[in-house]
Amino acid sequence: MKRFNMIDEEFICENCNKNVKKLKYSARDHCPFCLYSKHVDILPGDRKSNCKGLLIPIGIEKFKSSYKIVYKCEKCNEIHKNIVASDDDINIIIDLSVIKWFMILQENHKYMVLSIKIL
Ligand SMILES: [Zn+2]
Ligand SMILES: [Zn+2]
Repeated sequence: MKRFNMIDEEFICENCNKNVKKLKYSARDHCPFCLYSKHVDILPGDRKSNCKGLLIPIGIEKFKSSYKIVYKCEKCNEIHKNIVASDDDINIIIDLSVIKWFMILQENHKYMVLSIKIL
């Protein structure tokens, strides 16, 4: 297994301006109040990206026994994923998963239209 150098630190959220404390068991990579993150990592926790754009949460996906938050960078449009932290606001996660389900439904609909055309 690869080991990354994870940097766990306090920061002020650039979206909601709340003071975010260290996570302690892993690198804090997003705000637990609004789930926004910042494009600072190339590999998780390495803080080596020069982009520094705001990462906007756009969805949720299953990851092992937990979930990952899917982000889109407002500056470079790159898609990023962070693992859900233990103190994240569960209501926002539920909202995001509803958006994700809506996206999946729309994709399935496209697929259905496509398969009808083929038949
Ligand atoms: Zn925030
Ligand atoms: Zn970026």
